[in-house]
Amino acid sequence: MTFDSGMPGDSAKPVEKTGTVRRLALCAVLIAVAILAGMATSAWELRERVLLALVVILALVVALLQRRHRLSDQRLAAERRQLTVAVNNIPQGLVLYDASARIVICNQPYIDMFGLSPDVAKPGCTMHRLIEHRKETGSFDGDVDAFCNAIIRTVSLGKATRQLTEAPGGRAIEIVNRPLNAGGWVATIEDITERTRADEKIAHLAHYDGLTDLPNRLLFRERLEQALKAVRPGEQLAVFYIDIDEFKSVNDALGHAIGDELLKGVGERLRLCLKDTDVAARLGGDEFAVIQTGIKKQAETTQLVEGIYAAIRAPFACAGHLITTDASIGIALASGDGLDLDQLLRNADLALYGAKGDGRRTYRFFEVGMDARAKARRALELELRQAISDGGLEAYYQPVLNLEDGMVSSCEALLRWRHPERGMISPAEFIPVAEETGLINELGHWVLNTACAEAANWPAEVRVAVNVSPVQFRSQTLALNVAAALAASGLAASRLELEITEAVLIRDDDGALQMLHQLRKLGVRIALDDFGTGYSSLSYLQRFPFDKIKIDRSFIRDLAGAGASSSIVQAVVNIAAASDMTTTAEGVETEQQRNLLYILGCTEIQGFLFSPAITAGEIRRLLLSHRAKVVSAA
Ligand code: C2E
Ligand code: MG
Ligand code: MG
Repeated sequence: MTFDSGMPGDSAKPVEKTGTVRRLALCAVLIAVAILAGMATSAWELRERVLLALVVILALVVALLQRRHRLSDQRLAAERRQLTVAVNNIPQGLVLYDASARIVICNQPYIDMFGLSPDVAKPGCTMHRLIEHRKETGSFDGDVDAFCNAIIRTVSLGKATRQLTEAPGGRAIEIVNRPLNAGGWVATIEDITERTRADEKIAHLAHYDGLTDLPNRLLFRERLEQALKAVRPGEQLAVFYIDIDEFKSVNDALGHAIGDELLKGVGERLRLCLKDTDVAARLGGDEFAVIQTGIKKQAETTQLVEGIYAAIRAPFACAGHLITTDASIGIALASGDGLDLDQLLRNADLALYGAKGDGRRTYRFFEVGMDARAKARRALELELRQAISDGGLEAYYQPVLNLEDGMVSSCEALLRWRHPERGMISPAEFIPVAEETGLINELGHWVLNTACAEAANWPAEVRVAVNVSPVQFRSQTLALNVAAALAASGLAASRLELEITEAVLIRDDDGALQMLHQLRKLGVRIALDDFGTGYSSLSYLQRFPFDKIKIDRSFIRDLAGAGASSSIVQAVVNIAAASDMTTTAEGVETEQQRNLLYILGCTEIQGFLFSPAITAGEIRRLLLSHRAKVVSAA
């Protein structure tokens, strides 16, 4: 509805207002109650204001009724009828009482709401009798006297009352009694079931995660605050920060809908791991948290973490895909001795950081010193960024020897970082940092180009091997980068070998396999690196026809010992030979290991026995001199 504002000088600008207009025949005036539309921020406010308008009208009616001696009975009856029609047509229940607490008007919605008899709920009936009738019919179960007296007392002091009650069928009813200036009062009775539900829904949305229906970060903090206060002497509380490993790759490879399904599944399983007093929450993205309460022994926490791992690691069926996933978990414990909430959360975060730093798929309890380690790691990250832009990194090359003919068949490019103060830093230290921060893409790109350009200068029979991190592997541009590096260097694709680890294949996702096939189509060779570490499942060998398996040095180290290493190496060699794959033994340091590997049928060896990783200039000289040596020996 649009009204003219009626303000001087405003006549040209109609103002949007919302309101109600009632014609009151009794005094032949129009009563318009209007409010600016911007003020009626919600339907409820509007309804509230309409009700107020009605109260104003009714107040006038009462005043007018008191002057009824001036009106003829006939006219009065007509007015009453009109008013009855009007009040019966508003959705709220309405009862108008006079100063002696007798009903003047009681509308139909009121009668219907409480299932009352119109023979009782009618003008002239006392409030006491009305409430008594409600008690008889089951919509009131309090003390009638006390209830009526309290309301009559309050309204007679000129104050309004507001109560919530329940109507048959479990509906929520709000009753407001507003005193009238002319004496008596008006009771409005509103069914607020829907409004209450909407309020509850809004409150729920503010505190729960929409996807998993677990408490969100806000409610998690509240619950933690309560739980910290409730820690009993001799007991502890644990906060778990849980981060789903490589969740991004599920999202990227399989789409967000499946990513969401996975998160929902994780949420459900987490909930099932906990006892009633514990709390599981989703803090956002792939981050979950758990509050474990009432811990008497640390073993209870270890037990819970094991239960969580068992639940998360069991495959999830998401829209036709079977997805396996894993998690890094950081745990911080608190006893009731006043460890503050933020410090506890920081500790859990540091412990999570520690678990990630230890290669993910694992959990760590917070330990003093983690803070310092995290700081050192952040410093390393900054310095690494600097080294990339300053050219502080270098590619070294380690030759790989063919056991049959003694020739160098390939050289593996291994990154070296010459730190201005700390000297050489091992890639084992900085590659995980680069992977965590995404710097690995830049680093990997650089190594690929540098190694291809270098290998283009080597004898044609010597290949170059480049390590590719699972993080790089997930980038859609890997195949493109490889093709570009080959084109720029002029190196034949068959002379480039990419080393990937099992981590690439751990997730049963088609994206990784597709990428492997794309790379294979380019003509490059694919080697499975560090075989035997981590998950070491022979099933990975069936998923993709690798050209080479590199057996991890942990097996080579124990080769001559009493353990099962030699039979494992033998098994891998047999499987590889049956599928036309070559095998390279890593970390060969002794003649004895070399001889054993030869007997076991291993194809190649790599290790300090022949040469460590050396600079580009040194490898060029080594390749020439070694070839000359082998040829002259033959
Ligand atoms: P890797 O790919 O398994 O590389 C072999 C590692 O074993 C190298 O360590 C090498 O120096 C070491 N090694 C070789 N022979 C022996 C031996 O006889 N005994 C012992 N104890 N060790 C030996 P490095 O260079 O420290 O590299 C460690 C890991 O860092 C590599 O393991 C690889 O996973 C990663 N890395 C190195 N360069 C790169 C790179 O350019 N990109 C990526 N993504 N990862 C890299
Ligand atoms: Mg390698
Ligand atoms: Mg290796």
